[in-house]
Amino acid sequence: MNSFTYSRATSNAQALDGVKGGNAAFLAGGTNLVDLMKYEVEHPSALVDINHLQLAEIKETPDGGVSIGALVRNSDLANHPLIRSNYPLLSQALLSGASPQLRNMATTGGNLLQRTRCYYFTDVGFQACNKRKPGSGCAAIEGYNRIHAILGQTDKGPASKETCIATNPSDMSVAMAALQASVEVEGAHGKRTIPIAEFHRLPGNEPQRDTTLRAGELITAVTLPKAKFANNAFYLKARDRNSYAFALVSVAAGLEMDGANIRSAGIAMGGVAHKPWRVPEAEAMLAGKPADPEVFAKVAETLLRGAHGYQHNQFKIELAKQTIVRALVTASKGTSEAA
Ligand SMILES: Cc1cc2nc3c(=O)[nH]c(=O)nc-3n(C[C@H](O)[C@H](O)[C@H](O)COP(=O)(O)OP(=O)(O)OC[C@H]3O[C@@H](n4cnc5c(N)ncnc54)[C@H](O)[C@@H]3O)c2cc1C
Repeated sequence: MNSFTYSRATSNAQALDGVKGGNAAFLAGGTNLVDLMKYEVEHPSALVDINHLQLAEIKETPDGGVSIGALVRNSDLANHPLIRSNYPLLSQALLSGASPQLRNMATTGGNLLQRTRCYYFTDVGFQACNKRKPGSGCAAIEGYNRIHAILGQTDKGPASKETCIATNPSDMSVAMAALQASVEVEGAHGKRTIPIAEFHRLPGNEPQRDTTLRAGELITAVTLPKAKFANNAFYLKARDRNSYAFALVSVAAGLEMDGANIRSAGIAMGGVAHKPWRVPEAEAMLAGKPADPEVFAKVAETLLRGAHGYQHNQFKIELAKQTIVRALVTASKGTSEAA
């Protein structure tokens, strides 16, 4: 039995005060946190409900970008006219995730912080999970590892305190990585902005840490720079079922075209690593090139450089390469309304 206190914050200052000290958590949509509490994976002693904070606005920024409040629901974000027209990649990624009911509850801040779906993390019946129980080892590496990482993982064997092959399950974060978003946060020591590439982290030697957010910090907004990929964007999600399933591999592909040639590109992959996987060098390979599947295949090789799989997920390496090429080919033909 989990016992915890519940309080409702009506200002950012009150919310920050509520999580000071102790093992407290912010409650947004609750679609991940409450599940993890029921599974006995997370045990906050205090829940601070942030749903009444003034953080649910989507507005244009002076430099032509957009600011998305941390409490904007995934469905509102996906269907907002500004997002649909300027950032279709984000809209498509959001609509590929979960179900309409979940998207109506899930928030931008909560989605960024959702935890891995690694079975050995969510099932406390398994003793070894360095992410859930630091220092206990990793059951996934010699277990059923079909959904696990092929890039950036820490793999020092099942007994190591550092091993972790979990993946980040968020679709939204993959699109935000390709769009080079920034995460705005507020904490006891003030406000700061974290580029999304530095927000999620690889397991390194601290697999229990998913992000670089400090204890007690509140995400207030996510900002996107001026849109470049509105006309040529595609989010492709390869999964076991066509709906209500997490990505085995996903690719967010955005192209800025200059006539028949590509001026710049934003590409990120989901389902393959502990964070959305982006390799700027692979994007740079496309500058000045025509939209050619052979060039895209070379980009895929660069994105997958160093990949290695396990007994059940070797297939992801080839799947990822093919998904990248198909996403780029589709994006080059123009943003599809059908996605
Ligand atoms: C059946 C099912 C299927 C799903 N399928 C998909 C899918 O296909 N793709 C996908 O991407 N997602 C999927 N999801 C996950 C879903 O998108 C997340 O559960 C949701 O986005 C989390 O948002 P939330 O607002 O409910 O977060 P919460 O559960 O409220 O919070 C999650 C975490 O974030 C923290 N937090 C929340 N807001 C803030 C803030 N502003 N500042 C600091 N910390 C904060 C909380 O303390 C908690 O630790 C699925 C979920 C379920 C249950």
